Amino acid sequence: MVMKEFKAESKRLLDMMINSIYTHKEIFLRELISNSSDSIDKMYYKDLTDESLTFNRENYFIKVTADKENRILKVCDTGIGMTKEELENNLGTIAKSGSLSFKKENEMKDGYDIIGQFGVGFYSAFMVSDVVTVISKAFGSDKAYKWESEGADGYNIEECEKSCVGTDIILKIKENTEDEKYDEYLDEYSLKSIVKKYSDFIKYPIKMDITEKKLKEGTEDEYEDFIEEKIINSMIPIWRKNKSELTNEDYENFYSEKRYGFDKPLKHIHIKADGMVRYNAILFIPENIPFDYYTKEYEKGLELYSNGVLIMNKCQDLLPDYFSFVKGMVDSEDLSLNISRELLQHDRQLKLIAKNIKNKIKKELLSLLNNERESYDKFYEAFGRQIKYGVYDGYGMNKDFLQDLLMFCSSKDKKMVTLDEYVERMPEEQKYIYYASGETNEKIEKMPQIELVSDKGYEILYFTDDIDEFAVKILMSYKEKEFKSVSSGDLGIESDEKENESDSKENENKEIFEKMKNILENKVKAVRVSKRLKKHPVCLSNEGELSIEMEKILSAMPNNQEVKADKVLEINVNHEVFSSLKDAFENDEEKLKLYTNLLYNQALLIEGLPIDDPVEFSNSMCKIMS
Ligand code: ADP
Repeated sequence: MVMKEFKAESKRLLDMMINSIYTHKEIFLRELISNSSDSIDKMYYKDLTDESLTFNRENYFIKVTADKENRILKVCDTGIGMTKEELENNLGTIAKSGSLSFKKENEMKDGYDIIGQFGVGFYSAFMVSDVVTVISKAFGSDKAYKWESEGADGYNIEECEKSCVGTDIILKIKENTEDEKYDEYLDEYSLKSIVKKYSDFIKYPIKMDITEKKLKEGTEDEYEDFIEEKIINSMIPIWRKNKSELTNEDYENFYSEKRYGFDKPLKHIHIKADGMVRYNAILFIPENIPFDYYTKEYEKGLELYSNGVLIMNKCQDLLPDYFSFVKGMVDSEDLSLNISRELLQHDRQLKLIAKNIKNKIKKELLSLLNNERESYDKFYEAFGRQIKYGVYDGYGMNKDFLQDLLMFCSSKDKKMVTLDEYVERMPEEQKYIYYASGETNEKIEKMPQIELVSDKGYEILYFTDDIDEFAVKILMSYKEKEFKSVSSGDLGIESDEKENESDSKENENKEIFEKMKNILENKVKAVRVSKRLKKHPVCLSNEGELSIEMEKILSAMPNNQEVKADKVLEINVNHEVFSSLKDAFENDEEKLKLYTNLLYNQALLIEGLPIDDPVEFSNSMCKIMS
């Protein structure tokens, strides 16, 4: 028989598993039991909904058996089983492909990181075994197959005998080493406690043969071993339990057991709703961003149960996109078991549940914001972009619902502030909420445009995320205070006196500005006296809705539509450069051209915009120097 090779990525993962020095190897049992439970879910559902089958609850269980002498540990289930193809596809390739390439090689030399970050399902069996054998018979098939592997070299598949549908996982447990006591995984007592610890809430019975000493019949002090099959898990799903009975650890274990994430959840939300709709739910806000979160591959959704029976793995209709990071499950008696996906979308109960859940999540996030700021900061770092996107999405239809969850970095202390906090501490005469857009906070701080606003002592929100300015444009205002970019034409700060002064300067220099505008040939809407510049000679500002920062973002998009912001070239008439300009205007047309183009290009560079002709720019510089 020819041995088959694992796919490259699986092979690497297996290698890591085999040589792993991961300290919680016991989790392999949780992973196997969880797979078994999933496969029973599928069978159970079929059994309940297929009229040709006679349903019998007794048929569903998982059995863990240890044979110390031969170092064999078995996990057997009465689930849906796997066909030959499924054995190949499911066990020959790692399902979570991409998780490996996501991590840099050197970050996971000993396999620790990958296990902690992603979990590894079935392959974790290789952490504790020399040989892994899977014997499976799929529902609807009359043949059974055996899959066997000793590690990264490859695996064999052959036909075999198995009487009932389901899967047996058979592990040849490794010999003890100096650092590792593998015997633990053959010992009845420790196996029992591992099952209790990680898999207590599995809703199917997990059976084990438990040995007890009993008084030998007819004697008074002679004992004999008595073996009895016992169910060792409580089987009550965690969501049916009272919150007061549960500890944080219980929720964390549930989170790992369900593979909602491989981090620890930042927060759990346990809902027991008993009003208009009746449902139980356990929701989690993860601490870390799932590696594929901001990609197209990421699928949002909650597990959906109808009275304890899983009917859908990822019910998308239960979560709005802006809360797509939430993981968890919902169980409701009010949902029919046989409902189809299409009908479910329109189900009134489901809609009510979704609305209810959405409000609960927001409430929880607000409470995090108000009571556990550090956790909220963490949350926002991971998922804030999604919230901002939610504000913008759908022409702002959810903006009122989400605006209190927003935070931005503020010029004050460089800390994240909510809009409410910003508005609360605005000085009375300040009319607007000011913001500045740029690539990084450091770059924003150097922008000439912020001079006037910061000299006034006003706080400025730093927008460094692509979505920021778009979100705020949709919001328009917060608590009746409008948002204002520091680059916008009218900052609403100038005193009347100054206003008049710059107006007269504007008039005085009308001709020169007109001339400059012509030199720049429609590249700018206007050339004007700057009201905001103090130290710098020039800057660009913009008129209209589309800002320069937005222009940059839009033109970086794949199918950009060449949109341009209406730019205004602002000149600081108090700067020495301006007298040279004036001089050139009066005496030397060529020089005025040279200066104007130079200043314009400088302003572009300051904005981080590309200049049209870098060679010409360089030539002009040389001309001035020589
Ligand atoms: P995951 O469970 O995260 O998908 P695993 O590596 O643990 O990844 O399992 C891969 C696949 O193998 C599962 O998705 C499932 O289809 C199949 N599988 C594993 N164990 C069993 C089992 N006991 N019964 C039926 N199918 C199983």
